[in-house]
Amino acid sequence: MKYLAVSTEALKQAADVLCNGGLVAFPTETVYGLGADAFNPQALAKIFEVKKRPHFDPLIVHIAAVETLEDVTNLSLLNTETKEKLFLLVEKLWPGPLSLILPKNDKIHGIATAGLSTVAIRFPDNECAQKLISLSTGAVAAPSANPFGAISPTKAEHVRDGLGDKVDIILDGGCARIGLESTVLDITGDNIKILRPGGTPKEAIEDIIGSINDNTIEDSIFIENTACGLTSPGLLKSHYAPRTPLTVQKHDDIINQPYKSGFAFLFFDGFTRDIWLKTQKPADSAIIMVLSETGQVQEAAFRLFETLHVLDNEKITHIFAQLAPQNGLGEAINDRLIRASS
Ligand code: AMP
Ligand code: MG
Repeated sequence: MKYLAVSTEALKQAADVLCNGGLVAFPTETVYGLGADAFNPQALAKIFEVKKRPHFDPLIVHIAAVETLEDVTNLSLLNTETKEKLFLLVEKLWPGPLSLILPKNDKIHGIATAGLSTVAIRFPDNECAQKLISLSTGAVAAPSANPFGAISPTKAEHVRDGLGDKVDIILDGGCARIGLESTVLDITGDNIKILRPGGTPKEAIEDIIGSINDNTIEDSIFIENTACGLTSPGLLKSHYAPRTPLTVQKHDDIINQPYKSGFAFLFFDGFTRDIWLKTQKPADSAIIMVLSETGQVQEAAFRLFETLHVLDNEKITHIFAQLAPQNGLGEAINDRLIRASS
């Protein structure tokens, strides 16, 4: 494995590796991706092997130019109304943390899509990712660069710790700007649906194409842990999980959660922590963390996975985590916390 800081030379080497069927971990604005040439089924198979990702979990194909959509999808299968929505979303939200489900074409092998006739496509907003994709075949399939089910990597070091020598090159481009995976949106059916909340808030999508059905926190908590029967097959309930058991709590519950030795607390905001501290006397060594002192969802989203990585390396017996307000990126934060708790 080569661990390289992003540079013109490193990008060339990495693109060569991709064109020759190898694996490259690279930064995007969401999290670090584990990339393989989207047109090479053997290379795609390596992604599943290295991550121990189940084959029913389809990959997101990353492109670096809107025109590449023609090489990876069959847009003629979309009706006029859907096409209009697609182009509005692409115009306003790409490049960015939004993956769109579209009909695939024959160049995309079924291994990438878990046998589905659709493929998830994203145009990342990260210069290194864009250059790498453009220098390779123009389409790079890339799930998060971590072992399946583990916390997603927001730094190159996380990739090295999680996958190490199983990757040919790790490109170090610093911290991922958003720190949470992309929103996955299905615009192909009669009902437009967010299959996974992520870096693009629902509100931003609704501003462009009108209202989308809501998922409440309660809905999310009760998502069934089934692999089949879901429109988005990889969305298992248990995911993004630290090794330590984690319980999610709303504000009113966490302020009443008694401290015990070995417990770690992850508050969404400093205000809630301060209320809790009025009744609790945690040990000096206790791990009490806050995602955003002032309660900003964007900052909290950015810090979530990094904080879970840190907590995962502490000697603790249980993590209590406070849910975020269910708006903007709060929806994606809560989705990840709930999955981490399963
Ligand atoms: P990631 O682990 O970030 O690569 O997530 C990819 C996720 O996108 C998968 O786990 C699926 O839930 C979703 N996805 C990818 N392709 C499709 C598709 N064709 N149809 C529905 N969901 C998809
Ligand atoms: Mg992932």
